[in-house]
Order: sequence, then structure tokens, then C-alpha cells
Amino acid sequence: MSWSCPLCHAPLTRQQNSYTCPQGHQFDVAKEGYVNLLPVQHKRSRDPGDSPEMMQARRAFLDAGHYQPLRDAVCDILRRAAPQAVLDIGCGEGYYTHAFADIAAQTWGLDVAKVAVRYGARRYPQVQFCVASSQRLPFEANTLDAVIRIYAPCNPQELARVVRPGGLVITATPGPRHLMELKGLIYDEIHLHEPNREQLPGFTRVSQQALAYPMQLTGKEAVALLQMTPFAWRAKPEVWERLEQQKVFSCQTDFLIQVWQREADS
Ligand SMILES: [Zn+2]
Repeated sequence: MSWSCPLCHAPLTRQQNSYTCPQGHQFDVAKEGYVNLLPVQHKRSRDPGDSPEMMQARRAFLDAGHYQPLRDAVCDILRRAAPQAVLDIGCGEGYYTHAFADIAAQTWGLDVAKVAVRYGARRYPQVQFCVASSQRLPFEANTLDAVIRIYAPCNPQELARVVRPGGLVITATPGPRHLMELKGLIYDEIHLHEPNREQLPGFTRVSQQALAYPMQLTGKEAVALLQMTPFAWRAKPEVWERLEQQKVFSCQTDFLIQVWQREADS
């Protein structure tokens, strides 16, 4: 199994430092080993998480183990499914992805942020990384046994196309009380996250579990965590300063982990 062309979905063949499809679409393999599958017109657009400083801060937060219970929970589900081919969508620098590689025969990581993918490819040669859009997955139909989506958005039709019948999609999304204390610094009134009512056409939800636990963070870690959230842009400069000076910042997590199984093609 290999990548397929994100433009025409035909299989890509590796020739030295590039991949090409029968129609002549060509994609470069970077010296770190990942392949850049973004169509040329998208290459210049910058992802908000795509700066080396933010990536390092995120990596330090993750390496401290604060989200390890989430990774362990997803790995437990994956282990029971014993998959051959696994794709991690929104893989970032591979914090979760490399743990999946201990379970699956082939593990693929996809993210639009090149800085993160480059770092991941250097650190985890056991994962096949690409820079690509999650809206057009570079895989042939019915080839993946499991797709992991931790927070990352994805086009549901694409998931139904690439996951084989009986295969799984595992999603992790914020539960109602996720990072409430952090939000309390930014919003006058905290609204609890809406419960997740997502449906995935072509899939049946086979299980869901909540995972919630407290974290004790240093000021630096709390800043890194805030940077990782979608509400970071609302935080005023005072908030960032105050947070960084905290000795201990207590914050709770609340994740919703859902498992979806691909229905048989009718
Ligand atoms: Zn092509």
C-alpha cells in the first residue's frame, strides 16, 4: 500500500525523490522523508499552528505527559481492533502517531502544518508522514483499517471512501468541561462546550467514552496549552503574561472519545 494522488486518486509511484501518478502529477519527498502532497496553489497558505516556536511549545507540553491518558485510551481501542493500516489525521509532530505505529503494521500521518510534519518525520521514521489537506485524503478507496482524528476536522465523505467496510474511525473531541479554567481567564461567562452531536454518514457509532482528569501545569505549560486552543486568539496580552507567571495552574481535561465502524457497502 502506498500514497495515492490527491488530485486524481491514482496510485503514486516513488522515483528517487519524488512521487508521480500515471497522469503526471508529481510530489516531492523532503530530505526528512515526508512527502508534500499539497497542490501547488495551497503551498503558500500558512497554517496557524505552523510556526517553529508554537510547535516547540506544543511539543514540550505533550512530552510532559499531560495528554498521555488520551493517547493511552486511543491505543487501547486500536489494540483491540488489531489494524494493519492506520492513518492519523491532523498528526502534528507525531506525538500520538508514533504510539499507533507500535500497534499497526503501517502507520500514516497527515497534517497541513509542514513545520510539525518535518519534525515528526525526523523523529519517527516508523511513521510515513505527508503534508496534505484532510479534505482530499491521499489514499485509495477501502484501504485503511482505522483512521484516528484527534480534534482534527475532516471531510466525512472522504473518511467513508478510504476506510474499508468494518474498519474504524476513532475521534477525540472536547467534552463540556474541557479546559474550563483556561476559558475562565478569557471569557466573562463560560459556556460549556455543546455536546458533540456529530454524525458520520456511512458509519455506525459503536462506542463512546468520556475521559476527564485534572492537570497541574507550570505557567509555561499553561501558555503552551492556551496556544493549542481555538480560543487563543481571544486572549489579551495581560492574560498571557499572568498565565506565564503562575507557579501552578490547575486545569481539567474532558475528552469525548467515539468509535465509529464503517458500514458494509450497500
Ligand atoms: Zn494524479
